[in-house]
Amino acid sequence: MPSGKEPALHGRGLIRNVSELGRIGWTDHGLGRIAYGAAYAEGRDFVRSRMETAGMATRIDRVGNLFGWFEGTEPDQPAILAGSHLDSVPGGGIYDGAYGVLAAFEAAKAVHAQGPHTRTIEVVGFTAEEGGDLGGTFGSRAFTGMASETPALALERAGITAADVAASKADPSRYAAYLELHIEQGPVLWRKKIAIGIPTAIVGITRYEVTITGEANHAGTTPMKERHDAMRTAARILDRWFASIADRTDMVSTVGVFRLEPGVAPVVPGTAVFTLELRSTDDAITGKAAGEFRSLLSADEECTGSMRLLVSKPAVRLDPTMQDTIEEACRDLGVPCVRMPSGASHDASPIAHVIPTGMIFAPSVRGISHSKDEYTSPDDLVRGAEVLARTIRRIDEAATAAAG
Ligand SMILES: [Zn+2]
Repeated sequence: MPSGKEPALHGRGLIRNVSELGRIGWTDHGLGRIAYGAAYAEGRDFVRSRMETAGMATRIDRVGNLFGWFEGTEPDQPAILAGSHLDSVPGGGIYDGAYGVLAAFEAAKAVHAQGPHTRTIEVVGFTAEEGGDLGGTFGSRAFTGMASETPALALERAGITAADVAASKADPSRYAAYLELHIEQGPVLWRKKIAIGIPTAIVGITRYEVTITGEANHAGTTPMKERHDAMRTAARILDRWFASIADRTDMVSTVGVFRLEPGVAPVVPGTAVFTLELRSTDDAITGKAAGEFRSLLSADEECTGSMRLLVSKPAVRLDPTMQDTIEEACRDLGVPCVRMPSGASHDASPIAHVIPTGMIFAPSVRGISHSKDEYTSPDDLVRGAEVLARTIRRIDEAATAAAG
């Protein structure tokens, strides 16, 4: 049973920091705190100076991830790591990533102020989660040793080297847990009016480039029955595809890029090229769905089709014990919660491969994210941070109980 005293979390400090950090890199189109840019460095300095003022020791690794920590009474025990990322997409909102870092900072302060903790409590602000040409979750992949394939040109543009990436790999046995509090970036919690989501898994992402090959020909003289129109085939196949998955709740699929060749009005298109993305928390479902799409493609009589795999990121299960601990923390605080999958990728995805990882979601109003209109209410921001603090306390007390 955890101690009855709650960590006194400084909610107003959290709200103030979120809005002050949100002004660093703000533009007319939203937040533009792109990793390795000037605003990014300024934002990271902002967080680091607050960490140091609070009495944390800090360091920045060679790819630019920021760490700040309060040492535990038994510093040899594996630490509790909590945080998220400090960069944004161009035209992003102020909560994505930054909230998770600042909430982890407030939670760490609250737990530290409450009394002795066995484990070191460490806060992290990862770099380049949004990635760009470095690939998504770059900072956390460097931290886990999964960024060694990063293209040299992308590293050069960021002003870092392959040696910096290698030197930023941490020893996962130094950590007992990684906790990431993040806005949901979807409408589920907001619509259900539930304060906290506990992700069970992070979806895998499979992306194909689909090419449909017909025959380019004169748009005026070629009779309808004699055409091999790549656009007509694409429209037919995609209509069947989306109809066949319309009611599914175990996967989503998106065609986000579509191109026709030659792509001029008076010519029947000879080629259609588009992306087909599949996301599910179950890789077997994705594999089966890709097979179903392939059969639609091969059954078409007008044109031929092929699929080339572009991206294959497996789904990641989050640690069941961490999920239980977060749920117990919610119960301690009387906060309603629901378990749910995460449809977006996070720093937690690479880290879950090497450190027991749990995530906490706070509601996104109308589910809007990667937009300047992204919003989470102050009450929900504070509640999320309180659940995080409580979870950290519970993990630390479990360590003490096990040692005693
Ligand atoms: Zn994020």
